[in-house]
Amino acid sequence: MHYAALASGSKGNCHALSDGTRTLLVDAGLSLRQVRQRLEVLGWDPGTVQAVAITHEHSDHIGALGVMLRRTDWQILATADLRAALWAAQRVEIPRERWIEVRAGRPLDWEGWRILPFALPHDAADPVAYRVEAGGFQAAVVTDLGYPTALVADHCQDLDLLALEANHDVDMLREGTYPPQLKARILSRVGHLSNAAMAELLDRVRSPRLKTVILAHLSESNNLPELARFAAEEVLRGSGVALHLAHQREPRQIRLDIPGVSRETFPTADASA
Ligand SMILES: [Zn+2]
Ligand SMILES: [Zn+2]
Repeated sequence: MHYAALASGSKGNCHALSDGTRTLLVDAGLSLRQVRQRLEVLGWDPGTVQAVAITHEHSDHIGALGVMLRRTDWQILATADLRAALWAAQRVEIPRERWIEVRAGRPLDWEGWRILPFALPHDAADPVAYRVEAGGFQAAVVTDLGYPTALVADHCQDLDLLALEANHDVDMLREGTYPPQLKARILSRVGHLSNAAMAELLDRVRSPRLKTVILAHLSESNNLPELARFAAEEVLRGSGVALHLAHQREPRQIRLDIPGVSRETFPTADASA
């Protein structure tokens, strides 16, 4: 299985998982043109994309959904509450024939993959994260959560790859220029995961199997890549986990070739891989 962070951050989110034949996107916060371009830059065939799993209705996760509905035939995985919220707030309708209804805690068989959505504490209609099992690999994309619940920690056990939110450094956020209400929202139990909370969760889900962690959804205003990396390294030291950072403006991919072994390849060095 291959994983790519096509874009990650408050300006737009889109992750991709592929077995080479079929590709699933997680979130639609990157323009369709950019999705295709970034997949091509990584050497992936955009024609293999078959579906988009949406986590929640915030604009950085669904900004391109309307265009994707109009210009592709991709299926859309979403909860019923999310589908209703999209219609109510944005007048974006997922047609019934394109919709694969998901429910938190209920695994779904999709093209031979097992997809398990699970609930997150976040201020949206019915926010979920996705755990995906394909070809013996287990991966999860977990962003936009206020704190690491026990349920989240349970669902992050025994993964090969975890893309995990490291949104902010609490001190940077507190001392930063955001309005007090926004600071309070981000810091709340339904806001975003701080570096410290990310590290706490990583500590709970470390396992011999976990070989790849991607820190995602970093705030450009309230975090620094070095701070996020340092927080994660403190708990991962000696574990053999390869740590990567997802970016807003450029894609990154991780190729999981043998269960338990991963390598990161960069577009410029490895475009033909
Ligand atoms: Zn977000
Ligand atoms: Zn959100």
